[in-house]
Amino acid sequence: MQVRFWGTRGSIASPGPGTVRYGGNTACVEIRSASGMLLVLDCGTGARRLGKDLVEQSKHTHVPPSGCLLIGHTHWDHIQGLPFFAPLFEDGSVWDVYGPRGLGESIGQTLAGQMQYQYFPVSHEQLVAHVSFHDLLEGSFEIGDLRITAQYLNHPALTLGYRIEGDGVSVVYACDHEPYDPSLVGGGGDVSASRGDSRHAQFLNGADLVIHDSQYRPDEYLYKRGWGHSTVEYAVAVAAAAQVGTLVLFHHDPDHDDAAVDEMLETARLHAGEALTVLAAAEGMVLDVTPRAETAQRAADSNWRATYEPATTELSAFIVLAAADPALRTAILRAAAEEHLHVLDLDDDDEPDVNRNALVVVDHDDALSTQAARLHTWGERAVLALTRGRPATDSTVQDWLVWPSSIGHIRTKLRAAVLRRACQWQGAPLPADEEQRLNSLHSLKLLDTADEERFDRYTREACAMFQVPFATVTLVDADRQWFKSRHGLDIHETPRDQSVCAHAILEDDVLQVPDLQDDPRFADNPVVAGPLGLRFYAGAPLVLSDGSHVGTLCIGDVEPRVLDAGELDELRRLADGVRAQLEADAEVARN
Ligand SMILES: [Zn+2]
Ligand SMILES: [Zn+2]
Repeated sequence: MQVRFWGTRGSIASPGPGTVRYGGNTACVEIRSASGMLLVLDCGTGARRLGKDLVEQSKHTHVPPSGCLLIGHTHWDHIQGLPFFAPLFEDGSVWDVYGPRGLGESIGQTLAGQMQYQYFPVSHEQLVAHVSFHDLLEGSFEIGDLRITAQYLNHPALTLGYRIEGDGVSVVYACDHEPYDPSLVGGGGDVSASRGDSRHAQFLNGADLVIHDSQYRPDEYLYKRGWGHSTVEYAVAVAAAAQVGTLVLFHHDPDHDDAAVDEMLETARLHAGEALTVLAAAEGMVLDVTPRAETAQRAADSNWRATYEPATTELSAFIVLAAADPALRTAILRAAAEEHLHVLDLDDDDEPDVNRNALVVVDHDDALSTQAARLHTWGERAVLALTRGRPATDSTVQDWLVWPSSIGHIRTKLRAAVLRRACQWQGAPLPADEEQRLNSLHSLKLLDTADEERFDRYTREACAMFQVPFATVTLVDADRQWFKSRHGLDIHETPRDQSVCAHAILEDDVLQVPDLQDDPRFADNPVVAGPLGLRFYAGAPLVLSDGSHVGTLCIGDVEPRVLDAGELDELRRLADGVRAQLEADAEVARN
């Protein structure tokens, strides 16, 4: 894997005689896998020259310049090169752009903002290349032969770090990140003491190369706390704790000239010791990343899917607020309003009637509020705690915010917490033959038709046979699941992203989930976490003779359970009966 630096600077481009060696362009890093897959990390002003270079190469190869852009966040220094990135204006070029999803806006909409006519003469619609935008949450996904894992960093805008694995090596890009525990900025200290920093170290774990924010010296950090950047000492400490091979100092401060960066590099090397190689990113620097002799244990793969299909229903939009301090309350209420989050006040209502998806925001220094929140709402909900000092060791808190804080930072924390919950409830990926499958389903002409005994007898029989409250004949449509027959359920349909059957149609045999609450794909799904309280699911795919998996015969229960081999056979036999009915309709459609 090859890594090339086109922009190394943070905050704002700073060309001039003082920055000749390390460079004045803002963040842009090119990554190429051995197979030629191209990833561009961030699109700061450095992207302009990379773009020109790619177009120049394409003149020789006669292949339009194509690849993937991974945007960590949309602060200017990370996207200002985008409108000047020449491959986007090349005929036949194909670009996939990935970035963190906001609550209200997609990454595509946010990036289009900087190309409105007030800011830039060419509009977003005038891009010539074929550009697709992909919203990301935390989790993993694949691009060609590379596996990408995304994880939120600690920055006042919602920011993702990227871990890229392929060619037997791993590279992490963690740019625009501040220590969770401010006491770590001077070096020393225990990275594993705070949940946030140890999670960050886990994200870097065993990486061969880490490109890390290291904008400040500790004396500068004192005045820049909350701005979302690291010190060199912290970058070294976290890389060493994670047994990283090489650390590259990145996002140089615009006020630091080459001599200042040299000095910081020297400091970093003093702190790093023998095992960790430290470099400072310089424009034009190329690194070949090869497997190390002894590679530390790699991070466990995330089982969350990072790419996000826009939900057809709103994300859980409730927070429960437990705090008495008026200034803090005002700030939280304002940030929540700006994020369109509905606030339930613990003081107004002792038993907030919201489902498990709600986020609890608590003033951790206020013992009374914390106690009240614990008593009534804590449970299995996500907890964001505010503190005026160091984040305490409290394993039930998912994220900390040091107060006082800007509205922007609070908004980011709220958004990250809500989105984190969303990725513990996954919509199913689309089957490879989705278009053909939908054609086959629609040709049955069964959607939105009345109940029919020829289907109802199967759901009735299933409920009786397995002693379960629910059974349905589910048809999985483009954006919904619709029940042709339903025993024990009042509703006719739900959005597809809440559908367990949408997962079951990806299988060739029965999908059985003994306890939905134990499965990260379903634990926070509203049918599980909400009033229905579904715990057990088993669904047999209904496969037509043309191979289309149009739906399922499924059963469900509010208690966990497991079907034995004999019961699974019975479910398959019933599904065969339903399938024969569907096949008869398909036959009619064909003639
Ligand atoms: Zn930045
Ligand atoms: Zn930033």
